[in-house]
Amino acid sequence: MSEHPTDRQHRIAYRIALNVEDGATRFIDCNAGETVLDAAYRSNINLPMDCSNGVCGACKCRCEEGRYDLGDEYVEDALTKGEAAEGMVLVCQMQVSSDCIIAVPVPSAACKVKPAEHGGVVSSIERVADSTFVLRLRLDAPAAVDFLPGQFVNLTVPGTDQHRSYAFSSKPGASEASFLIRTIPGGVMSTWLATDAAVGTRMSFVGPQGSFFLRDVDRPTILLAGGTGLAPILSMLEVLADRGTEQVVHLIYGVTSDGDLVGLPRIEALAARLPTLTWAICVADRQTAQPLQGYVTEHLTDEHLNAGNCDIYLCGPPAMVEAVRTFLHDKRIKPRHFHYEKFTPSKAT
Ligand SMILES: Cc1cc2nc3c(=O)[nH]c(=O)nc-3n(C[C@H](O)[C@H](O)[C@H](O)COP(=O)(O)OP(=O)(O)OC[C@H]3O[C@@H](n4cnc5c(N)ncnc54)[C@H](O)[C@@H]3O)c2cc1C
Repeated sequence: MSEHPTDRQHRIAYRIALNVEDGATRFIDCNAGETVLDAAYRSNINLPMDCSNGVCGACKCRCEEGRYDLGDEYVEDALTKGEAAEGMVLVCQMQVSSDCIIAVPVPSAACKVKPAEHGGVVSSIERVADSTFVLRLRLDAPAAVDFLPGQFVNLTVPGTDQHRSYAFSSKPGASEASFLIRTIPGGVMSTWLATDAAVGTRMSFVGPQGSFFLRDVDRPTILLAGGTGLAPILSMLEVLADRGTEQVVHLIYGVTSDGDLVGLPRIEALAARLPTLTWAICVADRQTAQPLQGYVTEHLTDEHLNAGNCDIYLCGPPAMVEAVRTFLHDKRIKPRHFHYEKFTPSKAT
C-alpha cells in the first residue's frame, strides 16, 4: 500500500548519531514508531543483530544521550534491569522520542559503515597567531556534514595523499567549517598552509570521528584547552550558547607563550551569550603579560572541581592531557564524567 502524502507530513523523524567502536560516526533519521535497528537498516547500516525480537541481546548498545522507550517485550536475559538503568539498550526494541547518540560496540566494517567523504573550497586562511592558522572551508553540502560538537575529521593535504586530523572549531550545521591549526616546522599540512594554501583551493575530508563530544550538561562543567585544543571546545561552547544551560561552565585555556593566544574575542562573545560561562587564560611562559602564569592545573581550584561532582572535557597536546590526568589522580578527584582528546602527532605516511 502506498503512503498517503499527509502521513508523510505528520511523520516525525529524529536524528540518531551512531558512534561505532573505531570512532567513526554516522547519522541516520529514525521515524517515530520505528526501531533504531530498522532505521539503520534503511540507511544501509547493519547494526549487530540476531533475533531482532528482544531475546538474544546481540544488538545491545549504549545510549549516551536522548529519550527512548524499550517497550516491555524483551527478556531479562537479553537486557537486565541493571543494564537498562545504566543506559544500555536493545536497538531492535528501541523507539526514540528525541535525537539520540548511541555507542555501537563493533567496528565500522562489521556495520558496513563507510567513512563519509565531504568536500569544500577554501574561503579564507588567516594567520591568527605566530604559528596558528584559522582555515575556513565553504562546504559543498553543509547539511550532509553532520557532526557532534568536539569531533574531528581527517583532512587531506591538497596535492598529496596524506591526511591529518583536525577538530571542527565551528558548530554543526554551519555552511562554513573552520579549523584552528597550529603549524609545526617542516610538517606536511603546516608547510602547505604556510606556503601553498590559497582561497579557492578544493579540499576533501573524511569523518566525522571521535568520542570527544559534548554530552548533556547537567552538572558543573570544566573545559580545559591546551593550545589549538581550544578548537573543539569552541565548537562545544557555540552549541551550549545556542542551547543555554543553568550549570556553571568554567573554561581554562592554557598556552605556552603570549604569541600563541587566539580566539579571545570569540570567547568573550560566547561568554556574553552564555551567562554561566566563566573563563581564565594562563600562559606557561614566565614573561607573560597575562595575569595568570603557569599550567592549567595550577589554576584548577577545589571550587571548580566540586569534590568530583563535575564533568570535565580536556583537549590539547598529549603531555598536557597526561599532566591533567596525573593531577586529578594525585588529588583523588574522580569527575562524574571525564572526556579527553589528545592531539597526537600523526605518523607521517
Ligand atoms: C584526533 C586529533 C585531532 C587533532 N586536531 C587538531 C586541531 O584541531 N588543531 C591542530 O592544530 N592539531 C590537531 N591535531 C594534530 C594534527 O593532526 C597534526 O598532527 C598537526 O597539525 C601536524 O601536522 P603536519 O602535517 O603539519 O605535521 P607532520 O607532517 O604530521 O609532522 C612533521 C614532524 O613533526 C612532528 N610533530 C607533529 N606534531 C608535533 C607536535 N605537536 N609537537 C612536536 N612534534 C610534532 C611529527 O612527528 C613529524 O616528525 C589533531 C590530532 C589528532 C590525533
